Amino acid sequence: MTFMANLPPTAELQQKDAAHHLHPFTDTADLNAKGARVISRAEGVYLWDTEGNKMLDGMAGLWCVNVGYGRHEIIDAATRQMQQLPYYNTFFQTSHPPVIALAEKLAQLAPDHINHVFFAGSGSEANDTVVRMVRHYWASQGKPDKKVIISRKNGYHGSTMAGASLGGMSFMHAQGGLPIPDITHIDQPHWYKEGGDMSPEEFGLARARALEEEIDRLGEDKVAAFIAEPIQGAGGVVIPPETYWPEIQRICDEREILLIADEVICGFGRTGQWFGSQTYNIKPDLMPIAKGLSSGYLPIGGVLVSDRVAEGFIADGGEFAHGYTYSGHPVACAAALTNLEILEQENIVSDVASRAAPYLAEKWGQLGDHPLIGQARSKGLVGAIELTPDKAARAPFAVEAGTAGLICREHCFATGLVMRHVGDTMIISPPLVISNEEIDELVEKAGRCLDLTLADLKAQGLY
Ligand code: PMP
Repeated sequence: MTFMANLPPTAELQQKDAAHHLHPFTDTADLNAKGARVISRAEGVYLWDTEGNKMLDGMAGLWCVNVGYGRHEIIDAATRQMQQLPYYNTFFQTSHPPVIALAEKLAQLAPDHINHVFFAGSGSEANDTVVRMVRHYWASQGKPDKKVIISRKNGYHGSTMAGASLGGMSFMHAQGGLPIPDITHIDQPHWYKEGGDMSPEEFGLARARALEEEIDRLGEDKVAAFIAEPIQGAGGVVIPPETYWPEIQRICDEREILLIADEVICGFGRTGQWFGSQTYNIKPDLMPIAKGLSSGYLPIGGVLVSDRVAEGFIADGGEFAHGYTYSGHPVACAAALTNLEILEQENIVSDVASRAAPYLAEKWGQLGDHPLIGQARSKGLVGAIELTPDKAARAPFAVEAGTAGLICREHCFATGLVMRHVGDTMIISPPLVISNEEIDELVEKAGRCLDLTLADLKAQGLY
């Protein structure tokens, strides 16, 4: 294939990668023993590696390539902006046209009560901004003791010190002495894993009321905010029971705390509306965003800020001593703006709601009949299947969690499908532009990989 003509052989790339590159969330010794898969090209919903293998990208990169790969409008917009003004900052009372246009566009797309944005370079930086912003907001309102942010176990909010602290991944806290002070975690609304004998509805209410109990335990005068992903992504596509979010909203309305919906995955169409908060009918005070904002073409994130917080902040906050060199990077803003125009002009978000999500739900749901699957769930264009040796009991395997998931993930790569495993949960989040035929291909390949995984597990005496 001509596009690979100038690349060195895969083995050489792998050897250099092993020699010099430390990968995120990776056991380097383990990776170096095998050699990384080297991805060199992408188009639509497909990826190619340097060996010429074609794969359907069931994860849209890292939940981010919402408009699919190879959109020349975004590439052209970024190129034009590079030529015009490749960089300038937004500190020191300066601005530039692309950041102004993107801020205006986001205010237009966001729910009515949200009209401001603070830019960052990523989802993690957006969540670091959130921690500093809510504490500064309450201080500016004469309530400096309202500092604690309540989050959730198994939530994911990024990998910086504050992002990982907000997140509830204990294996991340264990490295680096996290969480930072004044962040606490309540239980998650994961019915499949933790619901026991309760109905999903009862369980959703019980897990929402954990927020009320935590506010009472800490004292309302100490609590700044509650943060959660509308649907937990990295935790395993945890779709909360329908009773969960209305109860959370009730509690936030009754108590003087801010509601933060982390829209880094759910934002920009993933759930069939522009924001996951709209799908769950909640009214957040702050919404961290990233990923689908630029469909991953360039790094950019931000925090969407409600009028309530922005007004207090602007009127009483003075200087907010926070910001990044790349806050509102002009080229990233130009790419994001064009990406949002594509989502809008091609009606991609409403197409998710009316076509792709119901089609995926039907096909993906059929995987629930497989002997290895305890539950197949999806909402919008995120989905999960739970691997289990015992469907009725929703039981885990008798070996270390992730053993079966990893076997399945490896079969997926070999079959030409990128599907991620979180423990023994297989998850998907394909580009929003995935066609019905491509959904058929995704589900057919997933089913084939389940058969192969089941055979392996039987051979190893694990099923
Ligand atoms: N919040 C959520 C909900 C995420 O899923 C992620 C990334 N997976 C982040 C924050 C962090 O984003 P980033 O990796 O861009 O820092």
